[in-house]
Amino acid sequence: MADYLVLVNGEHRLPEGYENTVELVTVKNCIGNAYTVEKKTYEAFCRLREDLLAHDGIQAELISSYRTIAQQQGSFDNYLNKFGLEYANKYVAKPGHSEHHTGLAIDVGILHEGKVLYIIEDLMSVDHLFQVIHKKLPKYGFILRYPKDKQAVTKIGYEPWHFRYIDSPEIATQIAEQGICFEEYF
Ligand SMILES: [Zn+2]
Repeated sequence: MADYLVLVNGEHRLPEGYENTVELVTVKNCIGNAYTVEKKTYEAFCRLREDLLAHDGIQAELISSYRTIAQQQGSFDNYLNKFGLEYANKYVAKPGHSEHHTGLAIDVGILHEGKVLYIIEDLMSVDHLFQVIHKKLPKYGFILRYPKDKQAVTKIGYEPWHFRYIDSPEIATQIAEQGICFEEYF
């Protein structure tokens, strides 16, 4: 069974063999793009998504999920070439050190004026909508992994779209209420 509390960051690499412990499913978002994600993470996301649609009029959509180490390398190189090393280091984890390798991390875009937002600047421009989403994360076992005021600890820029499933609404609520990040929980 997967360790839903696994810590993966700049200092902690994905544990050896971790990928063999998770059950992945491949699903499509509303514009037909396919994503692979850990099964319980996806089920929890669907419940969150329904809640947001029904009560807040916000349509949340997957824009990134499970990535292999090779895919992460491609993503890092892409940002490096387009925006330079500083930007790449701020927003893209080094291959082997991304939470997306676990299958438990999702990046969530928002359907806004007919298109799914997925570019960082566009996502930042709807931060007020993300604030609504963030309040509902703990109930579904997710945490906001890279909060704005914890960049010095996480070493990752504020990412209002990156949610991490930890399979425990209790611990997620504790983390949210104490205003701590995942590193500080340990
Ligand atoms: Zn992410």
